[in-house]
Amino acid sequence: MALLDITGVYKTYTDNNRSITVLEDISFSVEPGEFVCLVGPSGSGKSTLLRMIAGLDQATRGSILYGGRPVTEATDHIAVVFQSFALLPWLTVSGNVELGLEARGVPKQERQRRANRFIDKVGLDGFEEAYPRELSGGMKQRVGIARALTVEPELLLMDEPFSALDALTAQNLREEVLTLWRDETLPVDSVVMVTHGIEEAVLMADRILVMSARPGRIKADVPVDLPRPRNPKDEAFSRFTDRIYSLVL
Ligand code: ADP
Repeated sequence: MALLDITGVYKTYTDNNRSITVLEDISFSVEPGEFVCLVGPSGSGKSTLLRMIAGLDQATRGSILYGGRPVTEATDHIAVVFQSFALLPWLTVSGNVELGLEARGVPKQERQRRANRFIDKVGLDGFEEAYPRELSGGMKQRVGIARALTVEPELLLMDEPFSALDALTAQNLREEVLTLWRDETLPVDSVVMVTHGIEEAVLMADRILVMSARPGRIKADVPVDLPRPRNPKDEAFSRFTDRIYSLVL
């Protein structure tokens, strides 16, 4: 059975008596273990779709099933990493990482234990008591990733997680996210990531879903059959990237 099953999803926003259809007839599945990237022009509804998968917004029509059950609200099985990091400035690294667990009523000692494990996993050991203003962009996103991992999700959703970072930091974090995804000791099984970076999608994904401009529809569903680890300098990588570009344009 697919981990995530999306069938005939539409999303319409109504503002000032005007209706805007943002997503139209979206259907796709995500299998256990898969890394899926959503690419497409800005405004094609990628973030909206991710929020609906997370249970943070509702589809106007159609169904979103997780493990065979409708997603109606946020669940422990799905966590989100945001482009903006979404850290609370008045909390330390530990405080920010523990937030999701606190909201779920996990006792303090257990929260600390789990937070420390994931702070170590993302390479922030020693920064537990630092505040967001003391951290670089890359470190802030590591906090965002640790916070998502502490709830031990099976499905990790990422919304342009590297877009606010400098090129070198982004490159390092991409590799680290792939390592975390493959890490058998972590619960994360599948990833759905929104990106506008075609190379990033080709580097990371098992499958790339290409969205059309608004209303967002799935124009193409392309398996990335390049062996891992992938090297953007390889000719096959460039050829594949060109293929995706031609689908997006
Ligand atoms: P993408 O992530 O592909 O850039 P988004 O999902 O952010 O696209 O947005 C898709 C469209 O939906 C945009 O035109 C945006 O203005 C509109 N939109 C998103 N959220 C709302 C909302 N809460 N109310 C009205 N329109 C919205």
